[in-house]
Amino acid sequence: MPGLQALDATQNKTVEMCHTASYYYVGKDPTFAFGSAFPFGLNARMINAWFYHGGGLELLNEFYKKYNVYMLPGGNTGGQMGGWFRKEIKTVQDLQGLKMRIAGIAGQIMAKLGVVPQQLAGGDIYPALEKGTIDAAEWVGPYDDEKLGLQKVAQYYYYPGWWEGCASLTFFYNQEKWNELPKNYQAVLRSTAAQANLDMLANYDAKNPKAVQSLVKAGAQLRRFPNEMMDACYKAAQELYEEIGAKNPDFKKVHDHAKAFRNEEYLWWQIVEYTYDDYMVRARSRG
Ligand code: CA
Repeated sequence: MPGLQALDATQNKTVEMCHTASYYYVGKDPTFAFGSAFPFGLNARMINAWFYHGGGLELLNEFYKKYNVYMLPGGNTGGQMGGWFRKEIKTVQDLQGLKMRIAGIAGQIMAKLGVVPQQLAGGDIYPALEKGTIDAAEWVGPYDDEKLGLQKVAQYYYYPGWWEGCASLTFFYNQEKWNELPKNYQAVLRSTAAQANLDMLANYDAKNPKAVQSLVKAGAQLRRFPNEMMDACYKAAQELYEEIGAKNPDFKKVHDHAKAFRNEEYLWWQIVEYTYDDYMVRARSRG
């Protein structure tokens, strides 16, 4: 199936299952974001905790029932980069009129700050940046970005991609076909989906460190998004969530749940995970 028709094909039983990303379908309903990522959402560890042991998967599958599919997580990219910019971003003002390849809810948030979001397929990013049709583009992270060669057409490589603290990929199963399966077959699919989920994240975590070094050798200039810009984006995100939630009870229900879970995770994270990582990053730089 063409990439963006995988859900429809599974819903109407043209195929029995598909591997896709839930957030490709935010045009049908923005609630689809939560199966993959939402801006200022959960990191990869946290989203798996939410899916498997935090009630997230049950909550999402109540929603997916409306689309006649059952969902299991099937891969994760980990935290993504903020993307490639032809000019440096020093203030929020620098976003004004910036044409950026960024899709979905993140694009709507950026638009509140003056960005002109563009939807482009992966293969169209390089020529658009090269010609200057766009000024910036986000894709995934070092390993995938290097394959597109974006360092040759935009020098500044920003982080973090606050719209994708992680991105979870998705298996959708036609609901009736899933229900027809014997329990032990369902268990096999649960196990294989979980294996795919683990393996993709491990693969990215193993490959991104080398890819980021090779991008820097090839001329990429790493830049952290200014805090002032992050704060403005965070504020715009909360406004957008209020707006969508006021009209869409499914969105509000899942967002409230995921947000509360994320906040409690960070309460725990700041004690051991964050302090350990912070110490180790500094110890490594000291040699
Ligand atoms: Ca991305």
